[in-house]
Amino acid sequence: MSGSGSTSGAGTRHCDVLVAGGGPAGCAAALSLVRAGAEVVIVTPVVSPGWRVGESLAPTARPLLQRLGVLDRIAADGHAPCHGNLAAWGEDALSVAGCQFGPYGDGWHLDRARFDAALLQAALAGGAGRHAGRVRSVRRQQDRWQVTTDDGSVLRAGHLVDATGRAARPARRAGAGLVRSDHLIAVAGLLGAPRAAAAELERTSLVESTPWGWWYTAPLPGGERIVMAMTDADLVTDLHLLDPGVWWAQMQLAGHIRDRTARWEGPPRRLRVLAAGSACASPAAGPGWVAVGDAATATDPLAARGIVTALATGLVAARAILADRAGETGALDAYARRIAAVHAEYLNARTAQYRREQRWDTPFWRRRH
Ligand SMILES: Cc1cc2nc3c(=O)[nH]c(=O)nc-3n(C[C@H](O)[C@H](O)[C@H](O)COP(=O)(O)OP(=O)(O)OC[C@H]3O[C@@H](n4cnc5c(N)ncnc54)[C@H](O)[C@@H]3O)c2cc1C
Repeated sequence: MSGSGSTSGAGTRHCDVLVAGGGPAGCAAALSLVRAGAEVVIVTPVVSPGWRVGESLAPTARPLLQRLGVLDRIAADGHAPCHGNLAAWGEDALSVAGCQFGPYGDGWHLDRARFDAALLQAALAGGAGRHAGRVRSVRRQQDRWQVTTDDGSVLRAGHLVDATGRAARPARRAGAGLVRSDHLIAVAGLLGAPRAAAAELERTSLVESTPWGWWYTAPLPGGERIVMAMTDADLVTDLHLLDPGVWWAQMQLAGHIRDRTARWEGPPRRLRVLAAGSACASPAAGPGWVAVGDAATATDPLAARGIVTALATGLVAARAILADRAGETGALDAYARRIAAVHAEYLNARTAQYRREQRWDTPFWRRRH
């Protein structure tokens, strides 16, 4: 244990707000809350080193990082610029969905583990406490939360923030339903930096649709490359996509992705499977609790807005908690309504995007048309 929060005689730690999960959403909420004078404890596990998926950061993150006071640090942290996105979607030719002409300039191809660590470090430096571990159970007792972690520790807090990601277990224990829209999954591989690699000059991410889903690739700051096959959970087995050899062979059929990966000679030894479906906590807040980030509204990686949404919902949720603490009735309900509206708007945009691809009458696309 470290930092903020007080410990009672019984060994129970007390704080104003307990943030479950130290990803971008939890750190954004914690940073905003400590700056406003709240005693905050972040409960989050120690993360094992290695690569993390979710590395394209849209330029719209800039004003959010600025508000959190971490923009300069992130900008100087060795992440690579992302000039925009290319897509072969609805036709073979690539088109540009660039960001360099928008008001915020470039985005980034992040070293995601480093990005998350910097945000957590900023929250701790700002005064948040940290308990290394996972939230196991949450219970509301006399207007306070009693939270038990996997090492048996007990923490008590006036407000609870669920920032644990897509599974949103604390929110569900607090009373939320989880409304899932699909069962998209990612089968992701990391291609290591090729020997004697020339500097990676293209700084764009690339999406290419296939009859069973779509591929995504982006360069990483260290010269590696991430490649992901996206399809529905039930289609993966028929496709044998979990076999690195088959995954690689399928990748060779996607011409633009194949061109981007031409300097690599074979499949990665290991593939990672990640849930990537759209889901929404309903409601996303209730008496004394809020869900933020993916726990509130989890979006399709095609939208490439997960991190931005995580930062934004963390900031907005912090304001709602501060208002609730100040006795303003309805602040948490208003937050929940806002999340529901944002998610509904996102689902409409997602449908429109998938309908732009009409070349295949296959299960993956039929489900989305
Ligand atoms: C395949 C894939 C590709 C993606 N690509 C992109 C992309 O390119 N750009 C983009 O913007 N977004 C992308 N996303 C989405 C993005 O990664 C998420 O939206 C973002 O990480 C959400 O942040 P978060 O803080 O809500 O959750 P997370 O980043 O998931 O953080 C949750 C934190 O909670 C911790 N935790 C989990 N359970 C517990 C518990 N019980 N107790 C305590 N702590 C717990 C975890 O260890 C973690 O630190 C992608 C997602 C997927 C699945």
